[in-house]
Amino acid sequence: MNADALRASVVSDYSEHLNPGLAKLMQFAGFGVEVSAEGMYITDQDGRQYLDFLGGYGVFSLGHRHPDVLRAVVDQLHKQPLSSKTFFNPVQGALARRLAEVAPEGLQYTFFSNSGTEAVEAALKMARAATGRTGFVSTEGGYHGKTMGALSVTGREKYRKPYQPLVPGASFVPYGDLAAAEKAIDETTAAFIVETVQGEGGVHVAPGGYLAGLRAACDRAGALLIVDEVQTGLGRTGKWFGCDHEQVRPDLMTLAKALGGGVMPIGATMGTAAVWNKVFADNPLTHTSTFGGNPLACATGLAVLDIMERDNLVERVATQGDRLQAALREAFKDQPLVAEVRGQGLLIGVEFAEDEVGELVIAQMMKRGVIAAYTLNNPRVIRMEPPFLVTDEQIEHAVSCLKESVAETADLISAFA
Ligand SMILES: *Cc1c(COP(=O)(O)O)cnc(C)c1O
Repeated sequence: MNADALRASVVSDYSEHLNPGLAKLMQFAGFGVEVSAEGMYITDQDGRQYLDFLGGYGVFSLGHRHPDVLRAVVDQLHKQPLSSKTFFNPVQGALARRLAEVAPEGLQYTFFSNSGTEAVEAALKMARAATGRTGFVSTEGGYHGKTMGALSVTGREKYRKPYQPLVPGASFVPYGDLAAAEKAIDETTAAFIVETVQGEGGVHVAPGGYLAGLRAACDRAGALLIVDEVQTGLGRTGKWFGCDHEQVRPDLMTLAKALGGGVMPIGATMGTAAVWNKVFADNPLTHTSTFGGNPLACATGLAVLDIMERDNLVERVATQGDRLQAALREAFKDQPLVAEVRGQGLLIGVEFAEDEVGELVIAQMMKRGVIAAYTLNNPRVIRMEPPFLVTDEQIEHAVSCLKESVAETADLISAFA
């Protein structure tokens, strides 16, 4: 099949059998078909390579098909990919132990699942079981997933509305507003759930003292603190976990995206002994998952931790993140269309001074062979989340492409003004 025929047939499959609206949207935006990927690059149906500066929203921390991850997956595939669920599963045990070694102090236990939203579901259920309370407080613009429970604490009306009534007991406060959080957390609150950097919300970094303040407010009210690190966890922000920036110890912490090494789906809910003792004491099977903790996914997670430690990738993120932010600030210091550059580690947002600019800039970037994205919950902001292995040259290249793209977009806008 030639490239055009392949694209037409995939678009038709999407229109006929997946999601017609999405097919239209993607076609309109000019997206092609991804055929293969390696390292920092994705290749389309025409054999054209794209520099991946989005990294699958945090999934491709180690790039695409990292050879050491692949080796671990293939080895495990030939030994035992899925667990019988009757015997002890050694790979699951080892990954839980290794996670406890790098996680904030006190997070001794892990429950494994298959996605970020499942990890959040588990955390919400555990918070209720451990406290005997029903309330949740979350943040406006926060993103925690799209299953019923996780959606109930996701702070975007657009996604919630068609599915109401959702799980009762959830309320929302502005992100970063500690006084509002302190007022909302009371003796009915099972947990406060929060991201250390709001990703989908438009890359908002928790202001200094916010997480520590939330910890104290939860302690005063006897509520739990759930930190959702599905996107920020495992090095993305330049520390192992986002909450490490303030040495905050959550009661529950969720992980997913990067833990799969860009190869396998996996979710993890980590928690303290105090929580686990309450949740699982009477019934060790009170929360389970058939595929959760499968050896293939857990072998992948172990390889991820090995590579992160061996190659000092957390430090690398801090260095390359500073480099990328500095280059972006320098590039846009005289560009009125760019309102702000912000972020932490390699989770960086560029906010424009006008709406709808993000979409145009992303299209210009695609034309230049660089992938970035505008954030779901905030179309003024584009997001850069490259793999940790991004080189100085790739940073320079991506920033100069973005600079050209913004300049061309500014010209377009003034031509139509
Ligand atoms: C992506 C994300 C989720 C949902 O993960 P899925 O695997 O898509 O279900 C939850 N929380 C945060 C912070 C995320 O970034």
